[in-house]
Amino acid sequence: MTETYEVIVIGGGAAGLSAALVLGRARRRTLVVDAGEPRNAPAAHMQGYLSRDGMPPAEFLAVGREEIARYGVELVRDRAVDVTQDFAITLASGSVVHARRLVIATGLKDELPAVSGVAERFGRDVLHCPYCHGWEVRDRAFGVLATTPMSVHQALIVSQWSKDVTFFLHTVAEADLSDDDRRRLSAAGVRVVPGEVEGLVIEDDRLTGVRLAGGTPSGGGTTYDREVLFVAPRAVPQNELLEQLGAELRETPFGAYPVLDETGQTTVPGVWAAGNAAGFAEQVINAAGAGYRAAATINGELLMTDLDAAVRV
Ligand SMILES: Cc1cc2nc3c(=O)[nH]c(=O)nc-3n(C[C@H](O)[C@H](O)[C@H](O)COP(=O)(O)OP(=O)(O)OC[C@H]3O[C@@H](n4cnc5c(N)ncnc54)[C@H](O)[C@@H]3O)c2cc1C
Repeated sequence: MTETYEVIVIGGGAAGLSAALVLGRARRRTLVVDAGEPRNAPAAHMQGYLSRDGMPPAEFLAVGREEIARYGVELVRDRAVDVTQDFAITLASGSVVHARRLVIATGLKDELPAVSGVAERFGRDVLHCPYCHGWEVRDRAFGVLATTPMSVHQALIVSQWSKDVTFFLHTVAEADLSDDDRRRLSAAGVRVVPGEVEGLVIEDDRLTGVRLAGGTPSGGGTTYDREVLFVAPRAVPQNELLEQLGAELRETPFGAYPVLDETGQTTVPGVWAAGNAAGFAEQVINAAGAGYRAAATINGELLMTDLDAAVRV
């Protein structure tokens, strides 16, 4: 038999748990399906969430799970693999669950540049977001690994946190920098180094250098002493379920995200999206806020739907 809920939230990160908390408190029968791989798992601390600044991400989610349980929300550690147009969801375990409304809060995956050492150090001294970690590494020797011409923006932004920034052009040609880029990099005091990066130098469990490949214009095999490297992972939104449902997606330079109304509802009636599943730039506090907004809208919408049906009977 298929278990039926009023709302199923797919994804138990900040967005999904926040939606679930509001739905549980509104006395809605709610299930959270969570595969348990939150995006910020590589980081030891979560910064910039007012009143939770510095809290370990795993602790933040554990508290959230405790809070939703208080209101009778169920949570299963499983992965939603298939969804039908009438919101029957098949889980990887083989169970099928059904709901009247869905919140897709499946987040995104970061595809890291294929440079030796980057994946191992990500979230420690290889970073992507100065708002998340910039304060903690302020004034250190920064490198920025260019992977697209947009990396110029990252090199400029991080100069707010350190005046010692080296911009490794890596896969970007010098000719791809605009005159404005060059002027701004120079005004910010950012040193530009052409040539492909071969790998990172790690000593005593910390980043100490960035090594260029042989035969590059800046000197093959040269190592630049650096303590922190900023990279721009390719964002891969986890939007398979939205695609199965036929939600309209809009292409952005950071992946395809659902078209939403101001409440977070997708173009498929009854399906909301929140957090990084809905947008690349959603930090934890925004993800939680979006989950809250979606949940409150769903509660009101379900109530009105049921009242209207009762009036018609
Ligand atoms: C290294 C790093 C450090 C960061 N540091 C900070 C920081 O300090 N401050 C900050 O504000 N932001 C930080 N961020 C960004 C932060 O990770 C995101 O803002 C936040 O995780 C978004 O929450 P979310 O709920 O949308 O997604 P997530 O937290 O990624 O949660 C999504 C959940 O959905 C699950 N899921 C996915 N698909 C399915 C499926 N089909 N079925 C079931 N479950 C599924 C996943 O396993 C995961 O548990 C950092 C990111 C990274 C990569």
